[in-house]
Order: sequence, then C-alpha cells, then structure tokens
Amino acid sequence: MGSLSEKELYIFDLDGVIYRSNKPIPEAIQFIHALHSKNKQVTYLTNNSSKTKSEFALKLISMGIQAKEDEIYTSAYISAEYLKAHYRDGTAFVIGESGFESILKEAGFTVLNESNPEIIEMEQISDDIGADFVIVGWDRFVTYNKFRSAMMLIQKGAHFYASNDDSSFPGPDSIWPGAGALVAFLQTALHQQPKKIFGKPSPMGINQILQNYGVLPANAVMVGDRLTTDILAGNRAGVTTIGVETGIHFRKDLLKFGEDHHPTHFVSSLKELMNEI
Ligand SMILES: [Mg+2]
Repeated sequence: MGSLSEKELYIFDLDGVIYRSNKPIPEAIQFIHALHSKNKQVTYLTNNSSKTKSEFALKLISMGIQAKEDEIYTSAYISAEYLKAHYRDGTAFVIGESGFESILKEAGFTVLNESNPEIIEMEQISDDIGADFVIVGWDRFVTYNKFRSAMMLIQKGAHFYASNDDSSFPGPDSIWPGAGALVAFLQTALHQQPKKIFGKPSPMGINQILQNYGVLPANAVMVGDRLTTDILAGNRAGVTTIGVETGIHFRKDLLKFGEDHHPTHFVSSLKELMNEI
C-alpha cells in the first residue's frame, strides 16, 4: 500500500469529517493545512446533493480551508455528468433542494418542478407532461405532493435515479434523516429500486477524481466517517482508506460489516496521523 507520506492525492468526505453540520472539526482543518503545506492535492467528495460546488467551497473557506470550487465533487455533479451522457437536453423532475436543481439546469436539463411548478399540486398529470427521469437527493422541504408527482411521472415512464442513499447523516448533536430515507419512501411506494445510485459507496466519484487529476489508485487516499459509504467506495476504487471517528461510525462498528468495509487506518481524530503525512 505504501506509506501515507508517499500519497499524492487526498479525497475527504465533508459531513462528519471536516465538520458536523455547521461546526468545524479543528483537527481535520489542521490536517488539511498540513497537506497543503506539503503540496499534496486535496479534494472533497460528498454525497450531499443540496448545495453547489461554490457554496461548499465558501463553507470550507469560512472554516479556514483554502478550498477551490473545482476541488469539490458532490453526488449531484456525479449524477449530472452521467445523466448528461444518457438524456441530453432532457426533462428532469427533482426531489432535491435548489442547489441540485441549479446543477441539473446548468447541465442542460429542463427541470419540470421549475418549468411547471403547478404539477406538484396536480392529482393527475396530463399526457402532454412527462419527464425523462426523476432523481432523488436530500430535500429538507419535500412534501407528500412532491413525492406523489414523482411517483406519477415514474408510472408514466420516467426513469428513477438516486443521487445517494445515505440513510442518515450527522447533525450537530444527533443523527438526521438523509436522502436514503427519501429514496426509501418512493422505493416502498413503487416496489422499484432506483436504476442507479451515484453517490458513495459507488466508486464512480472517486474514479472521476482520479481520472481528472491523473493519479493512480495506489497514490490516493479516501478519508471518511462512514464505513458503508466512504470506506466501501474507497476500497472498491482501490485507494488507501482512512476511517475517522468524528461522525457516524466507530471502531466497534467494524464487527458489523465485512472486510470490504474496513479502512486501511482507523483513527479517533486525524491528529493521530499528523506525523505520518
Ligand atoms: Mg460523512
């Protein structure tokens, strides 16, 4: 695997690693400063689909991290890249926040919730209205009617996708429902699985970062708090993985999951690895 000091590229999850909700984790910020001072490439890969790259970059900057927009990868962007290749200039219905809608519009899609907002209150959808796909991400403003429209569109032929299926994520001092809980709502109602889930544990995002930076898996590291997403995705992509106990999972959780969910290194705080990089 090689030592951490030989690695060229670090990929960080955000929630539970760099911050918990809006509370920065100081040891993680110091760790990133140390990586920057050693000229390592630092990128961020989050399943959170609610914000744009620039909004995440600003959040990191406000916490004292010199982050650039193009270092941020979110499940919404990974989704948009794939969907662009399969439904060019098509129509989307989005369960997600305004950041997700903006990303899809920038990718060239018509977002039905915006172009025909009345659709959300309709009990039937006429045949002249349809969508190529419905995509589900984290949405704090979701309503029964929004789910109902999504379900009607899928029954009329729209394909069902999910940006990620994190069941929950760390709030400031408790666990909050994640996008996966919203995906499950539709899955239960439809008796249908999404055609694809783009976020971690899919290695799609990590592979895209490695390709963009021209770095081999052997020279990259994924840092995350969740064994079932960050660590599994990292192991699937063949990179070194670091689990950190500042979010969802702890060392005791290793017993619950198979080897493919086990990180190369497991630390209570990134401070423990300061001298290894
Ligand atoms: Mg996390």
